[in-house]
Amino acid sequence: MANYKALYQEVILDHNKKPRNYGTLAHASHHAVGHNPLCGDHISVALSLDRECIDCIAFQGESCAICKASASMMTSAVKGKTRADAEILIQEFLAMATGKLKVDSLNHIGRLAVFAGVCDLPTRVKCAILPWHTLHAALNSVASASTESGPDPSHAPIANP
Ligand code: ZN
Repeated sequence: MANYKALYQEVILDHNKKPRNYGTLAHASHHAVGHNPLCGDHISVALSLDRECIDCIAFQGESCAICKASASMMTSAVKGKTRADAEILIQEFLAMATGKLKVDSLNHIGRLAVFAGVCDLPTRVKCAILPWHTLHAALNSVASASTESGPDPSHAPIANP
């Protein structure tokens, strides 16, 4: 457990210092903004699809360390993947972060497993999953996503796996 926590902190710090794919895309075909009102995280995700493949992806915004690290790792994880594979990873990440998925070799989580511990920190779960909600919204051409479902008609519901 101590090693796992050390790895978690190391990965979060690394991705905060050097976020991967941070910035804007000149020719994005899909984009969405995400908001987590509980923490104040705001991020935007832009990507371009080449046929069904995520050719380029970038994110930017104002967020806490967990949200930024999650977004950074997410963009690295889905770059080059097909839309269908990205959706599978979104479902797996959401299930893992909420404690519904045991990480094993049967899923595609890989290094994203460092976020498995957030399910024990209810206030941080939404920070970790916001980028993934936002990616899901972007892939489905929904303009915005929120971790809080509410009267906002543009909220993108995520089906239970
Ligand atoms: Zn946050």
